[in-house]
Amino acid sequence: MSSHHKRSLEAIKRLRQHLTGTLILPQDDAYEQARRVWNGMVDKRPSAIVRCANEQDVIRTVQFAREQDLPLSVRGGGHDYCGRSLCDDGLVIDFSAMRNVSIDPERRTARVQAGTTIGELIGAARQHGLVASTGSLAMVGLAGQTLGGGYGPLMGKFGMVIDNLLSVDIVTAEGQLLTANTNLHPDLFWAVRGGGGNFGVVTAFEYRLHPGSSVLTGTFLYPLDQAREVLRGYHDFTSTAPDELTIGAALLHTPDGMPAILFAPSYHGSFAEGERAMEPLRTFGTPLLSTVQPMEYSDLLTTFNALVPVGRYYFYKGQSFAGLSSEAIEGIVESAHRFTSPFSALIFHHFHGAASRVGVSETAFALRQDHLLLEIFAGWEHQSAEQDQTHLQWTYTTSSQLAPFAMEGVYINLLDSGEQERLPHSFGPNYARLVELKRAYDPGNVFHSNPNIQPGT
Ligand SMILES: Cc1cc2nc3c(=O)[nH]c(=O)nc-3n(C[C@H](O)[C@H](O)[C@H](O)COP(=O)(O)OP(=O)(O)OC[C@H]3O[C@@H](n4cnc5c(N)ncnc54)[C@H](O)[C@@H]3O)c2cc1C
Repeated sequence: MSSHHKRSLEAIKRLRQHLTGTLILPQDDAYEQARRVWNGMVDKRPSAIVRCANEQDVIRTVQFAREQDLPLSVRGGGHDYCGRSLCDDGLVIDFSAMRNVSIDPERRTARVQAGTTIGELIGAARQHGLVASTGSLAMVGLAGQTLGGGYGPLMGKFGMVIDNLLSVDIVTAEGQLLTANTNLHPDLFWAVRGGGGNFGVVTAFEYRLHPGSSVLTGTFLYPLDQAREVLRGYHDFTSTAPDELTIGAALLHTPDGMPAILFAPSYHGSFAEGERAMEPLRTFGTPLLSTVQPMEYSDLLTTFNALVPVGRYYFYKGQSFAGLSSEAIEGIVESAHRFTSPFSALIFHHFHGAASRVGVSETAFALRQDHLLLEIFAGWEHQSAEQDQTHLQWTYTTSSQLAPFAMEGVYINLLDSGEQERLPHSFGPNYARLVELKRAYDPGNVFHSNPNIQPGT
């Protein structure tokens, strides 16, 4: 252990007396649990985890990390695939004790603290017959999802999560607590809408809500051997689907082990029109199952939680497709035939409608044309390091085989730590402005444990 590291450990113990929240050190009983995130493959060992109770704790921790020259990371829900909410030998700002949600039904807004999950926001909004545009799983953290952009089942109708973000409270690298919105620090507000955690630590988010807490949803299942024609139908249909209808899809194994392709549409609007709009989903081939039913959006978001339990090993890659060529379809189907685990999947998010009508440079998130985002998702029960490699290799091979047919940029929350070179493509014309803002707000790159925009020189 270096003398710098020893001195830091001594100083960290003293940090405790300046906090309202809890300081968790490696020798504490709570440490092992506190350093665990959703992905069981992540095995980082921070020097301390600061479970903040309020904004002052966040400010003190940022200042302390800078004074001591310690790595710093920020944990919202801890669902980042490669565990960027944690860091080795540094400090973690942990928001799991800051999860207050407050709904203003008159203004149709929600104010949430940074440790809130999607399910907690949606559950609270539902009490007032309201809904928010969110990602597709209740258990996932809102903070990291929002900062990356936020794809979800309502984005055709209401836009991405960031298109409904009204304001943030954010602690800068200087340790200042600012409110950023379209009037106050608008450049910072622009940057956090898609630029990730690069610009500060967000302590609270304010979102716009919408009336109507239920959706028409459905399950349409086809056997994998029909996947080529079914994917062609999906591609053609999604490119003309109305805003109200957003259609997620996945090539996967069903719980009883059958390889299949699944469509999970959501329609927000008149249910009678929704039924009619979903009709073509039955006609891409011969479905094994085709059901449609109304559901509370909050219930819909818990449907798939059980498929991705906390602690299993996961790895992923992302590719975005402006259209699905025959070669891309061939590659996707062929990769599904090569799944190395029954828990792996190829998952499509359908980006269209209101999300596509936002201008490329209105927010930092730049991938504003209609597209299908593909998650190349490996999940497995860990047995040996050798077997881990088999699953990792499947994602690498699949991603590189599909890359020639895909867009250059991809959703930054799907970029793994080794994909720094894809970041400028993902931000496209916004990248230069983001680098400039990074220099202005975080020239020392204090906030680096993220898909990192480097301030350069
Ligand atoms: C099962 C599963 C399903 C998913 N489904 C979707 C989906 O439907 N749509 C979608 O868009 N994405 C989806 N994702 C990806 C998701 O957007 C990211 O994993 C996201 O990072 C989760 O947010 P989090 O708060 O849990 O992240 P964390 O792991 O806590 O953090 C992720 C990153 O954000 C930074 N960060 C976190 N909180 C803050 C903060 N308060 N201030 C500053 N920086 C912060 C962290 O430092 C880190 O770099 C899914 C992920 C999983 C695991």
